[in-house]
Amino acid sequence: MAKLNKRKCIHCKTVFQKQQPLQSACSYKCAIAHAKELEEKKKQREWMKRKKQLRFETMTHKDYLKLLQIAFNTFIRHRDERKGCVSCGTSLLGKKFDAGHYRSVGSSPHLRVDENNCHGQCVHCNRDQHGNLIEYRKRLIKRIGIQEVERIENYQSDLKLSIPEIQELTKHYRKESKLLIDKRKLIENE
Ligand SMILES: [Zn+2]
Ligand SMILES: [Zn+2]
Repeated sequence: MAKLNKRKCIHCKTVFQKQQPLQSACSYKCAIAHAKELEEKKKQREWMKRKKQLRFETMTHKDYLKLLQIAFNTFIRHRDERKGCVSCGTSLLGKKFDAGHYRSVGSSPHLRVDENNCHGQCVHCNRDQHGNLIEYRKRLIKRIGIQEVERIENYQSDLKLSIPEIQELTKHYRKESKLLIDKRKLIENE
């Protein structure tokens, strides 16, 4: 029975004999020290929260776009991980590969989150071959059809997404990625 009344001090970690059922510190000194520590942690947590909030409040349109692009590109990589590179056809499975835009985000920002304008692409084609666009076009036609390729090639717009629209899209693509990950897990477990 005596053993039941022993516990580790919440502060100094030495084992002590409890005098009261809910006693968690070996001494008054340790109890005070622990309370101070909790207070410090709480302040720290509040500061971290505030810091996060501040960062959020000072985010620019460009910052939001950056987050959207990350979410979208991640989605494309999950979508295309079992397809070959859109330009050279090499297998992408288990490799680090890029989400390569057919019309680049730099020159065609209005197509930055067009799902037919972006496909899994090996690092060699995307970075060393600058997109390997002639081969990209050939395989893109097979993948989405000439009509859709021409739509992308001819589509012009200077429409700008608002911050709430960008946030909505970011949320959407994060969710889509999660769905694809869950689906893959299901297949792998079968
Ligand atoms: Zn103690
Ligand atoms: Zn390639």
